[in-house]
Amino acid sequence: MEKEITVIIACMDPRLNERLNELSGRDDVLILRNAGANVNGLRKSLQSVIDSGIGIKAIVSMQHNDCAANKFIKSIIDKERPEPSKILMDSLVRQFIRSDVDLANIDQTNHDMQIDSLQKLVEGKIKVRDGYATVHIPTPHNSHEHKEHTVVAIIGRSHVPYECIAEALHKELKSIYIIQAIHAKDVHPDIELAKTLFNLKHIVIPKLETHRDLHNETAREVSKAFGIDVEMVNLTQNCVKSRSKH
Ligand SMILES: [Zn+2]
Repeated sequence: MEKEITVIIACMDPRLNERLNELSGRDDVLILRNAGANVNGLRKSLQSVIDSGIGIKAIVSMQHNDCAANKFIKSIIDKERPEPSKILMDSLVRQFIRSDVDLANIDQTNHDMQIDSLQKLVEGKIKVRDGYATVHIPTPHNSHEHKEHTVVAIIGRSHVPYECIAEALHKELKSIYIIQAIHAKDVHPDIELAKTLFNLKHIVIPKLETHRDLHNETAREVSKAFGIDVEMVNLTQNCVKSRSKH
């Protein structure tokens, strides 16, 4: 029997990488990440978790302060920025356009909103043994927010130790944004956001033996949809094997 998993939905922010690194190689933890730990943008991936019938121990929403996604949302609603593309509006921004949303405390608002969305999406469809939790990671102000960044998209239900990705890219773990979804389509709004916020020119997709076709297809799809270069990176099998935990 497959073991129970804990699902963690976390923001793509690099300041959360070290906290998640230990969990990233575990086969009883499924990490999904996007801008602002946005449940609405992960519907396809979460649906496939539900459809798989796998036992779920807990679902955790992991967020942090000084979140660029939340600042982006607020600046659009305050009309300090032009309205973004439809996919970004539909996936991320529109849920905040409600009279009862407290934009002055948007980080807290987002916590409440995401846990509420999770419960609505999951309840009645699958049992979550220990229930839902929010984790707030205090993060220092990110002064590098608008520089060019490395953005990595991990696609498929995989358990790639983050440090192996950093190693393959010769980058520091804390310098990469990580988007993570089971369904390739779920990462599109976040690539769009990274393009808008960070002047994203290329994206990195770690290539795993087990998901080879999916990764090739995603790379073609992403470069066609966004006109950005996609770099495929082979992970060192030695690293993956030694750091993975079963
Ligand atoms: Zn964030």
